[in-house]
Amino acid sequence: MARVIYDSNNRITKHYGNNGHTGVDLGYSSNEEYNKVFAHSSGTVVAAVDGYDTMHGSTNMLSYGNYIDIDHGNGYKTRYAHLLKNSVRVSVGQSVNENTQIAVIGETGNAYGRHLHFEVFRNGGRINPEPYLTQAFDVTPSTTTYQSHDSRYGWNPNVTINSNDYAGNFGYNIDAVYLDTYKMRVHDMVKNQWLPWVQNRNDYAGNIGNAIDGIQIEGVAYRAHINGGGWLDWVYKSDGTAEGYAGIYGRAIDAIQIKSM
Ligand SMILES: [Zn+2]
Repeated sequence: MARVIYDSNNRITKHYGNNGHTGVDLGYSSNEEYNKVFAHSSGTVVAAVDGYDTMHGSTNMLSYGNYIDIDHGNGYKTRYAHLLKNSVRVSVGQSVNENTQIAVIGETGNAYGRHLHFEVFRNGGRINPEPYLTQAFDVTPSTTTYQSHDSRYGWNPNVTINSNDYAGNFGYNIDAVYLDTYKMRVHDMVKNQWLPWVQNRNDYAGNIGNAIDGIQIEGVAYRAHINGGGWLDWVYKSDGTAEGYAGIYGRAIDAIQIKSM
């Protein structure tokens, strides 16, 4: 189990999404041993703020008081807020794991009573942290790769999923895509139709010579870049099923980027 704090059972005092609540609150214990805050799982500290007192009415980042952010890879980040003043015991760049005590529960920032405010981010957006009080994050093999084809350069180099790189060359329409593992299809802009689903590089998705203006992938987060435009929003669905697509019909795609959810 991924341990957030020592013995986190039955300690939820406020749920995620309750009146716009951006995380889950875990109450403190009369036993200080249980108020130690541990890293959720292995990762790298990307923020470590200490020295603040309680500041009722504070907003934005000040409302967190003393807080720690940890990047777990695969698009996941955790935040631990309202930490006890002078209890932060990690620093930016430090590697941590679930056995690393990072701080102690406090009530700094805009907090009323001691508690831990815990948030989980995925690909930059907040998600419900509650399943992750007892679950590990999804770790997709980092060896999964994808590849795009365009009329100028042919098949472009493999890109590793979750890397900051993308497949494509801005200004040159993509007409075919290869992807490991995941099920995918593309929309042919010339024929104005979705082409058959493909999976595991048994085939590529696309018709060489015909630009694509839509792409749909199951089980990952993905986005498309429009030729002459910019990046569209990330598309993903938390249960892993395909919903929606990346693209705008009639506008050719010249790059795609894929991350695990
Ligand atoms: Zn809270």
